[in-house]
Amino acid sequence: MSEVRNPATGEVVASVPAASVEETDAAIEAAARAYERWRRVAPGERARVLRRFAAVVDAHLEELALLEVRNSGHTVGNARWEAGNVRDVLDYYAGAPERLTGRQIPVPGGLDVTFHEPLGVVGVIVPWNFPMPIAAWGFAPALAAGNTVVLKPAELTPLTALRLAELAREAGVPDGVFTVLPGRGDVVGERFVTHPAVRKVCFTGSTEVGTRIMAGCAAQVKRLTLELGGKSANLVFADADLERAAATAPYAVFDNAGQDCCARSRILVQRPAYDRFLELLEPAVRALRVEDPARETAEMGPLISAAQRDRVAGYVDGARIAFTGSRPDGPGFWHAPTVLLADSPADRHWREEIFGPVVSVLPFDDEADAVRLANDTEYGLSGSVWTRDVGRAVRVARAVESGNLSVNSHSSVRYWTPFGGMKRSGLGRELGPDALHAFTDVKNVFIATEE
Ligand code: NAD
Repeated sequence: MSEVRNPATGEVVASVPAASVEETDAAIEAAARAYERWRRVAPGERARVLRRFAAVVDAHLEELALLEVRNSGHTVGNARWEAGNVRDVLDYYAGAPERLTGRQIPVPGGLDVTFHEPLGVVGVIVPWNFPMPIAAWGFAPALAAGNTVVLKPAELTPLTALRLAELAREAGVPDGVFTVLPGRGDVVGERFVTHPAVRKVCFTGSTEVGTRIMAGCAAQVKRLTLELGGKSANLVFADADLERAAATAPYAVFDNAGQDCCARSRILVQRPAYDRFLELLEPAVRALRVEDPARETAEMGPLISAAQRDRVAGYVDGARIAFTGSRPDGPGFWHAPTVLLADSPADRHWREEIFGPVVSVLPFDDEADAVRLANDTEYGLSGSVWTRDVGRAVRVARAVESGNLSVNSHSSVRYWTPFGGMKRSGLGRELGPDALHAFTDVKNVFIATEE
């Protein structure tokens, strides 16, 4: 059994059993049997099942959101978006089964056709920072393509995933097609990697665990998607709309208390605009409403655990603090939003993923300097460029080594566009049409027609 706490109060809200290796094997084997039936379900019927699942989630949005607030400390506004995202992702991929078509390729002496074959059982491993959306980004396209799924939520945040499994059953998703198995990473998660019936692992989490999983999958040439860490840059040129860039920068890094792989946690400001930008940023950070995440007005909640809070505090300790926002007194795992001034790109807080409400600021000279500093990291997940010069916006967006980049915006995720990392931020893409193919293998069939 593992205890689940409310991060806003520290109180235990549930105890959840942790699956053993034997239970994991049983779930994988049941999913393998269910696959033999699910893959043969007519595409239109598979689509209907996913649409019903989306409709049942829609009918429980508020319940799911409030459960996430209690389990993860997310603000109620964010948690509503997250539950809605599960519905939207299911609806989006419900349109896929009937459109998953192959090609007919002209060849001499016969007919050549390709099929997108499902893989089998897919193991989805989810971190604690966005338990609902990240789960759906794995299970929705996997199911649509005809695979079955065994999903392991993070130890700290299993409650909404368990509820989604109940809702799936209510929607008529057949037994064994979608199973949620709470448990430890080194037990359940590791078994996804080693069990031969699991044909693909879809992992979101730290780069450290991701590299281990990749090494484990290599032994069986197991398919793999990795969504890992980030240290994304927010590049602000002197010609940008500084008011807007500064007013939105706090949301780009302190959203979800900074526990966001896309957090723009390195702000680079062109030297002539550096002082003015900090002047504008300070009131925006101080105005952030850091409070009980169940309140409608909350803009930032607590961190997930005491350990995470202490880890974050370790980065701030001894660093040059420009200013901080507020944090409530009392119990719970709180850390104030904090702006640090980097002395050099060698600073630890500049280089490492903190995964908390801390942002570092550094000046740059020109475009080449900005791109060099932005790319001086092992990560490559997300980022923003702020400028009024269209040519520069395109040049810099193309030059920054990250899987996602926004110009004059901090947006990262839309379920119909691809999402994923370059370099050590990951492998493969989720969401959008591309993700569907990542849950299939292409088969080529040649049929001789010569007499
Ligand atoms: P983590 O790597 O510690 O754990 C992630 C999941 O992996 C959990 O479910 C955990 O139980 C499981 N796990 C742990 N050890 C395992 C093992 N040996 N084998 C198989 N599974 C194992 O990460 P976390 O602390 O839960 O999440 C934070 C990290 O996730 C951050 O680095 C963040 O950047 C990253 N993240 C990335 C994305 C993205 O899309 N790129 C999105 C969200 C979070």
